[in-house]
Amino acid sequence: MSRRCARPGCGQSADTTLSFDYSSRQVWLDALHPFDSPANHDLCGRHADRTHPPRGWALRDRRASATDAQVLVEAVEPVVLRYAS
Ligand SMILES: [Zn+2]
Repeated sequence: MSRRCARPGCGQSADTTLSFDYSSRQVWLDALHPFDSPANHDLCGRHADRTHPPRGWALRDRRASATDAQVLVEAVEPVVLRYAS
């Protein structure tokens, strides 16, 4: 099931989830969360790249490390499947 970019008029498939915390004034960009949440915003890569936090907020782009973790999972999975069959 694919989710769509939250930016009005975009409609591209979302591959990034933006979340934020008011108390610590932080915005996070992560690889698309497995579960949709009304508190977060799903964005396409183009709009995620164009995200700028409000003045005084910090933006943490964690997409690169999330991708590395995903690659590791994909590399390990076929071995597990081979043993299982
Ligand atoms: Zn978009």
